[in-house]
Amino acid sequence: MKVGLIRCMQTEDMCPATTCFKVMNTKKLAFEGIEEDIEVVGVNTCGGCPGKKAVTRAVEMVKRGADTIVLASCITRGNPIGFACPHAEQMKSAIEKKIGKSINIIDYTH
Ligand code: SF4
Repeated sequence: MKVGLIRCMQTEDMCPATTCFKVMNTKKLAFEGIEEDIEVVGVNTCGGCPGKKAVTRAVEMVKRGADTIVLASCITRGNPIGFACPHAEQMKSAIEKKIGKSINIIDYTH
């Protein structure tokens, strides 16, 4: 699996994505049961509210080899401050439309 990880720009000053990388490395939580190797081909933020840049950034990661776009839990679950992105669903559906069904989307990490 080749992962393009997208995270919330608002939380990057309080979280260096440590747990996101840990669950990928240990194949826990969102990555439970994945048997193939997990390689991170890129990490980027949503670009800031309202997250429109996440769409083109996901496309760029697919161009660079990602077969799976992962939306970090800071976006969809509000980690680490209990404040999920109000644009998460719209962001996810816009990414889905743009990258097509051949690319998998995982909408949380932990
Ligand atoms: S759009 Fe959502 S994910 Fe992006 S910075 Fe704003 S709150 Fe975070």
